[in-house]
Amino acid sequence: MKKLALIIISANIIFSTQAQNSKPKLVVGIVVDQMRYDYIYRYWDKFGNDGFKRLVNQGFFCRNTNYNYVPTYTGPGHTSIYTGTTPAVHGIISNDWYDKTMGKNMYCAQDDKVNPVGTIAIEGKRSPVNMLTTTITDELRISSNMKSKVIGIALKDRSAILPAGHTANAAYWYDGSVGGFITSTYYMKELPVWVNDFNKKELAKKYMSQPWNTLLPIEQYTESLPDDNKYEFIAKGETKPVFPHNLPETQKLNGGLNMIRSTPFGNSLTKDFAMEVLKNENMGKSSSTDFLAVSFSSPDYIGHTYGPNSVEQEDDYLRLDKDLAELLKFIDTQVGANNALVFLTADHAAPEVPNYLTDLKIPSGYVNEKKIADSLKKYLFKNYGDTLVLSFSNQQVFLNHKFIDSKKLMLSLVEEDVAEFLRHFAEVSEVLTGNVLNNSQFTEGSRYLMQKGYNAKRSGDVLINYLPAYIDYAPYGTTHGSPYSYDTHVPLIFYGWNIKQGSSSEQVYITDVAATLAMMLNIQFPNGCTGKPISFLVK
Ligand SMILES: [Zn+2]
Repeated sequence: MKKLALIIISANIIFSTQAQNSKPKLVVGIVVDQMRYDYIYRYWDKFGNDGFKRLVNQGFFCRNTNYNYVPTYTGPGHTSIYTGTTPAVHGIISNDWYDKTMGKNMYCAQDDKVNPVGTIAIEGKRSPVNMLTTTITDELRISSNMKSKVIGIALKDRSAILPAGHTANAAYWYDGSVGGFITSTYYMKELPVWVNDFNKKELAKKYMSQPWNTLLPIEQYTESLPDDNKYEFIAKGETKPVFPHNLPETQKLNGGLNMIRSTPFGNSLTKDFAMEVLKNENMGKSSSTDFLAVSFSSPDYIGHTYGPNSVEQEDDYLRLDKDLAELLKFIDTQVGANNALVFLTADHAAPEVPNYLTDLKIPSGYVNEKKIADSLKKYLFKNYGDTLVLSFSNQQVFLNHKFIDSKKLMLSLVEEDVAEFLRHFAEVSEVLTGNVLNNSQFTEGSRYLMQKGYNAKRSGDVLINYLPAYIDYAPYGTTHGSPYSYDTHVPLIFYGWNIKQGSSSEQVYITDVAATLAMMLNIQFPNGCTGKPISFLVK
């Protein structure tokens, strides 16, 4: 009897060890650039069954997922999803920033030590070298003794490179000057034959050889404002922001094949390339878990150009839904249904066009940051004999420390003087100094978000926040970057391998994504991770 019990116990141990060691064949991370969580519901009735609806109806929807830092931009967004931490730790404080040690601007994925591959354009000199921590994709590579394959792709270089991590097998991004995907010597000396073959098909050129018409009859776009409205940017060569957009003609005046970025065909091209990567790299076909990080960049370009209430945006999401359906079906055939773990989220969201809100009598407006910077410089020059401002960018003021030291001034006092001056502008809601951020710990609200986005070594000396619905942007289209819900609230859906259907409105943070993936895959958290596993997804 005793012996039998022992056997049963050992069987249980073996069984549970086996269960714990089971892994998906493939992880596919999908980031939709600038997607707000409410778009799922706004366009729901027009979505097909196999795209967004498949993910929501069969997966788990975390309906209250938020960014937990500012600024809510693309570079920091993609980095935070994959590192499980915020700019305070991972160091990607913006898309571009003033580099204090070099005294010049730095792009988040810039690397002057590497060279372009597949192009001669400067857009090829890119790598993840500025990212200070590991990603979940790095940890997957390390945990598998580098057997897991990790590849990142997107139209935008930063959206392909940062998610794929430091140890990626490859990252590929789009270059309009060649009309195809390129990489850098950080990853390889030359493009694989299959990438060259894909580029030779000239799909970008083909997509751009026809006008952009609406997918459905235009009168069915009842979730959007009229096609011709004053809140949209008018492309060069057009007189009104309306369908059909004559791409074969207007591309000549709008960056050639780069114009595909601000059309839904940028998503289609990304989807085509994603399927090519899966096929040619045999992703999900070995005993180790592979990881494809895909980012759809076009929704962001379209949001910036036409705004969230445009027929153009609605059409973009209806077409993206079809592209998503095709990609999900392809993943099924590649690794078998439910052998892939898929997640979908966004790198930030976006506000309504402020001019539209103003017309609805909602407090809103535009900030002229250059004007604020100029008057600050004048004030400082009068008081200190120097403008003191080396850069005013990303709502941050970078002060001239050398000058301040040479005059034996107290940095903290100068910071407070700058902050007090800036607080007087009507559109400024809040100003925090580096001194305050370095010596206090905020636990909630926009100050907490500012602190989580503040990296003492890289960030400016004074950080500004504007009023809700105030943006520094053209009076049409939209932008993002604030700590407000319209910029921080994004969709997060897990689907496929080991995921039970459901949804939750409990608040979770974008930094929880990588922690959750680490628990699901039984691997180390990224080394700077500050997020927590989402409790209702991992037991
Ligand atoms: Zn973005």
